[in-house]
Amino acid sequence: MSKRILVTGGAGFIGSHLCARLLSENNEVICLDNYFTGSKSNILNLLRNPKFELVRHDIINPYNIEVDEIYNLACPASPVHYQYNPIKTVKTSVMGAINMLGLAKRLNAKVLQASTSEVYGDPDMHPQKESYWGNVNPVGIRSCYDEGKRCAETLFMDYHRQNKVRIKIIRIFNTYGPNMNPNDGRVVSNFIVQALKGEDITIYGDGSQTRSFQYVDDLIEGMIRTMNTGDSFTGPVNLGNPDEFSMLELAEKVIAQTQSKSKVVYLPLPADDPKQRQPNITLAKEKLDWSPKIKLDEGLIKTIDYFRSII
Ligand code: NAD
Ligand code: UDP
Repeated sequence: MSKRILVTGGAGFIGSHLCARLLSENNEVICLDNYFTGSKSNILNLLRNPKFELVRHDIINPYNIEVDEIYNLACPASPVHYQYNPIKTVKTSVMGAINMLGLAKRLNAKVLQASTSEVYGDPDMHPQKESYWGNVNPVGIRSCYDEGKRCAETLFMDYHRQNKVRIKIIRIFNTYGPNMNPNDGRVVSNFIVQALKGEDITIYGDGSQTRSFQYVDDLIEGMIRTMNTGDSFTGPVNLGNPDEFSMLELAEKVIAQTQSKSKVVYLPLPADDPKQRQPNITLAKEKLDWSPKIKLDEGLIKTIDYFRSII
């Protein structure tokens, strides 16, 4: 059945893929964005679809519309951008969550929060399970994002317990793919852009820190499956690819795939940079019958093709 769906942050990297997928399933989609890190070019190909609507709005202010479902993605996700105006980042996470939960409460709509593996901080449990409470510095330079997202999770759970709002929380692990902003500052886009331009590949620290990279199509499938679970399932649920790589391994893969002559250079490691990260996806397998299908090598080919086309 066709639904009317609000996607906040819909002009961003993940949001643009989600809007496209929801439209392909014949839903009406309202994409809300303030274009802080997102771009109209990400959704240009959707504008001709009469079921697609674009709204310029800042999520820290209330927004009223009649919808069946809300995917709340509005928030800068790259450390460079969320640290640019950290107070605004907290407001976006916290006030944005309150505004979307208030809307969902009034409409009895389902609302899904795009939370993050950052709620685990610099984890001392490996891999990370949903039951792990995390190791987060509350006063560091990443806190505006980590604590903002943790507070948003709290609000989601409290609106659910107190007001019976129909909520879903997903914890997204590092995701990459087409439509990432070339100036985004995250590691996959940085390395690919640097390799394609023949610039130095910037490894922060010694490159031994690890991340587990998920291709965006796998995430979108997991998000929709989560939204479609029954009301008794709220999450939080991890969505990520458990294949774990060091940043040095990632740099080597990108250099090999682009056949670049770029050299690796080592820059200082930013404060509080997590040393390791890998999702435990047992819960997603059990509740969503979901697991990622696209290996890093395959996803990198598609992502490199995309960056070649826009650089
Ligand atoms: P992105 O920066 O490309 O997209 C975020 C979008 O939100 C952008 O279009 C931006 O303009 C918009 N936005 C920011 N502040 C806003 C505000 N106040 N009002 C309205 N719109 C606003 O990032 P992304 O990678 O697509 O991330 C989307 C969501 O997923 C974010 O909430 C992020 O925290 C979460 N997430 C992403 C990853 C990842 O690896 N990509 C990992 C964990 C969580
Ligand atoms: N990183 C790096 N070079 C870059 C950008 C990032 O070595 O040009 C490192 C960064 O220090 C971190 C990892 O890559 O250890 C992932 O960084 P990203 O910003 O993509 O995501 P997050 O730290 O939020 O997982």
